[in-house]
Amino acid sequence: MSRPCPCTSKQPYDRCCGPFHAGTARPATAEQLMRSRFSAYALAKVDYLIATRSEAKRALENRDELAQYCKSVSCVGLKIVHKEKGGPADDAGIVTFQASLQANGRRSLHIETSSFARESGRWVYVDGVVKE
Ligand SMILES: [Zn+2]
Repeated sequence: MSRPCPCTSKQPYDRCCGPFHAGTARPATAEQLMRSRFSAYALAKVDYLIATRSEAKRALENRDELAQYCKSVSCVGLKIVHKEKGGPADDAGIVTFQASLQANGRRSLHIETSSFARESGRWVYVDGVVKE
């Protein structure tokens, strides 16, 4: 009884982002971390969003604001547009993605180039540049 993963990978949640959220597995690639953060937004897993931010940026995250944001928006779809490095043997990576979001009945496209790094062996989100 597994639902499809909210990161729209067409995989069951239990075999996609679920184990990352549960802490029973770690993303091996920057893309996996990115997808798991997208599905964490979809499922309002605020702790996961904070834990997967780089240490230097973690203080920027506001728990209440994140929770509010997760509630206000529906994460409709995710498309990976471009990747650089971010593989199991890399220490850094860049992922450009398109997230389809819906808020107040309006669809919007969030296009972002995110950078990821490995800290103490685990992938974290460093920062992103949003395409206007
Ligand atoms: Zn997933």
